[in-house]
Amino acid sequence: MAVVIIGGGLMGLSAAFHLRRADPTVPVTVLERARVGAAASGASAAGVRVMGRDPAERALALESLARWPDLDRELDGETRYRRDGGLRSEITAQDRDRVVKELFAEQSRTLIFPFGGRAVLAQLADPGTLRFAVLDDDYPMVTREALALVDRSQSGFGTLDTIVVLVDGAPAEVPGSALEPEMRDHFEKLYDALWHQLLGVVDYRARLSRGQNSADAFAQAQQARGRLRKKVAEQKEQLGLAVFEADRVGTVARAVAGVWGGG
Ligand SMILES: Cc1cc2nc3c(=O)[nH]c(=O)nc-3n(C[C@H](O)[C@H](O)[C@H](O)COP(=O)(O)OP(=O)(O)OC[C@H]3O[C@@H](n4cnc5c(N)ncnc54)[C@H](O)[C@@H]3O)c2cc1C
Repeated sequence: MAVVIIGGGLMGLSAAFHLRRADPTVPVTVLERARVGAAASGASAAGVRVMGRDPAERALALESLARWPDLDRELDGETRYRRDGGLRSEITAQDRDRVVKELFAEQSRTLIFPFGGRAVLAQLADPGTLRFAVLDDDYPMVTREALALVDRSQSGFGTLDTIVVLVDGAPAEVPGSALEPEMRDHFEKLYDALWHQLLGVVDYRARLSRGQNSADAFAQAQQARGRLRKKVAEQKEQLGLAVFEADRVGTVARAVAGVWGGG
């Protein structure tokens, strides 16, 4: 029996590797239309995660987690795998109230803040609707949203319920529940990170306004700014992942009803 595998990404190469290991006599050919690792596998951020997975994936994720520490030996190569752990923090009702208060204090009910080298607009459309829009790099920035995330759930802004992407030039809403877990996960992480950056900015502004004459408050504000800047590489990666996934969300958007008009 000869085996032909189409696609030289992680899946195809892993299938080839395991097939040959199970039976070294089987001829296995991998057909790749571009080059090995050309697509998603080459773009991967190489994170190994068990947390926040769909329950159906958990057993597989746990099995993979147990295998990673031995992979260097098994593959006779360096994977550079490092076990760091992960943390996902909760946005509390107080956090939400602080941001809502701050946004109501602004005439336009918007705050623009830096994220991953780009600008993000947080907009309170009404007390129950907070939108995050990642602004396009082009001028004028506000006219073309690459991606926006909306939360309009009645219970607060702790969870992401809607994602907005451009479909044929028009913004279209997709409920988070309509997305595949892997895709949803990228947006949830981005949403979480946007919230934390926004909270950091709100705190920073509060410190500056309180501490105009206080060296301590100024020093703390400087530290807060340093912390915000430090996260840029991580944020860029999250934006990259979400923008990559936005195309796939667009396909889902075509299938679900509802278009968000206005900016
Ligand atoms: C930006 C980004 C970041 C990511 N980060 C992570 C992460 O941190 N952790 C994680 O676990 N996962 C991550 N992922 C997901 C992970 O990279 C993918 O799940 C995985 O690489 C998928 O592997 P694959 O082999 O199925 O697909 P691909 O890597 O897309 O491979 C498919 C291959 O098939 C080839 N092909 C397609 N059609 C044909 C054809 N007709 N003939 C010949 N060849 C063909 C393509 O050229 C391609 O090389 C990330 C994905 C992206 C895009």
